Amino acid sequence: MSTEKFTQQSGFPKQNGQSISYWLRGVQGDALLNHRTTPELPVSTDIVVIGSGLTGTLVAKECLATWPEKRIVVLEAREFCSGATGRNAGHCKPDQYRGFEAYEKAFGNEQALKILANEWQTWSDMVQYVRENDVDCNLWVGDTLDVPMTPEVAARTANQFERVRAAGGKVDHIKVTTEPSEAAKISRIDGAQACYAWSASTLYPWKLAAHIMRENLKNGVNLQTRTVAAFVKPSSENPGKWMVQTDRGEIECGQVIHATNAYSPALEPSLRDLIRPSPHICNKIVPPVSFAGSNGLQNSYGVLLPDGALFSINPNCASGGDLILFGGSNPGQRKFENWLSEHPQKYADDGLTSFETISDAIKEFTESHLPGWTAEHSGIAYDDGWSGIIAWSADTVPFVGQLPNLPGQWICAGHHGHGMARIFTAAPGLVKLMAGKSWTDTELPVVWEITSERVVRLKEKKPLNVLTALSGKTEPVEAAPILETLSHERSGPRL
Ligand SMILES: Cc1cc2nc3c(=O)[nH]c(=O)nc-3n(C[C@H](O)[C@H](O)[C@H](O)COP(=O)(O)OP(=O)(O)OC[C@H]3O[C@@H](n4cnc5c(N)ncnc54)[C@H](O)[C@@H]3O)c2cc1C
Repeated sequence: MSTEKFTQQSGFPKQNGQSISYWLRGVQGDALLNHRTTPELPVSTDIVVIGSGLTGTLVAKECLATWPEKRIVVLEAREFCSGATGRNAGHCKPDQYRGFEAYEKAFGNEQALKILANEWQTWSDMVQYVRENDVDCNLWVGDTLDVPMTPEVAARTANQFERVRAAGGKVDHIKVTTEPSEAAKISRIDGAQACYAWSASTLYPWKLAAHIMRENLKNGVNLQTRTVAAFVKPSSENPGKWMVQTDRGEIECGQVIHATNAYSPALEPSLRDLIRPSPHICNKIVPPVSFAGSNGLQNSYGVLLPDGALFSINPNCASGGDLILFGGSNPGQRKFENWLSEHPQKYADDGLTSFETISDAIKEFTESHLPGWTAEHSGIAYDDGWSGIIAWSADTVPFVGQLPNLPGQWICAGHHGHGMARIFTAAPGLVKLMAGKSWTDTELPVVWEITSERVVRLKEKKPLNVLTALSGKTEPVEAAPILETLSHERSGPRL
């Protein structure tokens, strides 16, 4: 992602004309969507969590567990969990090697491995939570397949994989097939050049967040949907406290948590240049009989294409393969991004339901590479979809911790289109910091911490001095070319 794109873009959640995702459509009428625990907004509380996506919901859960006696209010601008969590592609795919090269260049070897290990831990924690709590959220656990589609992409993928192995990373759980005909057989994709398989999940993300929030409500959380936090200012009456100004009145509190992801810079201007909102499209395709039900795809996918493009495919296995969701940054994404740069008012607009070049690329891929796709069925709609707002992080990793110079204001945001593989560890990590524990106690990659140094460096578009930042040494060493690295990264989620 080019850092030049990190201009002053920001926006609050769109109040009218949003697209409706498959997930939100499936729960229309659920009382949680418009829940207000009390008819009026409380005038004061201990903790205000702004945002009811997976981050805000999990942060509230962890706060309850840490301080059962504290009063917690969750504010949500629209319906419950109607942001990215309610609109994503439903894929929790822990990156196990693909991002390593870029992370290594940006943050050094140890942190790159730590990021991959964290993704695995996050996925494991999420699956464990769903199973232990019997959460009804269509969880599927199985092999996700990375499938490079040209010899050049296969060579690059093999190189990325070998780099992790050479660096001492864990790769023995990844099944690698380098023989193209065998890869095509395993993946059911014509033209597959190789296949990398490891465990991942698909799920109904809204239902997971809803389960957690219902537990929170039972334990005393006050949820206020359709309440926009407009700004946060110091309390004039009680020094050290914050006043959250909303469209329904003010609420005074000791701690504020920004769980607002892509919308964070609209509410907190110091986050501009660090987190940038941008719409992303998810297409829902009802497959032909040859790819439905028991004939359906049995894996999730990252189909790897030239120029860093990729299709992320979720065949909704746990629902019997009735539909296939396509996300990722497909070959039509570039034209979408060009269009967006000509329509800057759309950067926080989740009203789009499709974009022609993105739909066309899916049609081309399915018809050319999935044998038998069109044989029995011709009326497939490729442009049936929705959009959500992704929070691009200026250095691709989230911002977790206390906002510099704003004691008592905390953040867990900037998940870079990959929050399902980050939030289940990032949100509890944040609450540990709030409880006075050290960064080490969070067990999160240290490069996720929001520090004054990171903020200034990213605003000045300077590279990270890896050794200084990570070891505390003060001697300057050769800086990792993070901005250069990231400017060559394709601006799509690493799903
Ligand atoms: C189309 C799409 C596909 C994706 N696919 C995947 C995927 O397959 N796998 C994956 O890992 N990740 C995916 N992502 C990214 C993932 O969905 C996010 O990283 C994750 O859901 C972020 O969760 P969150 O709780 O931090 O943010 P959100 O779910 O966006 O929650 C933030 C909430 O804060 C509320 N809010 C914001 N500002 C205010 C305010 N001022 N006052 C009150 N409320 C406010 C918003 O309304 C919103 O509900 C995708 C994202 C999109 C858009």
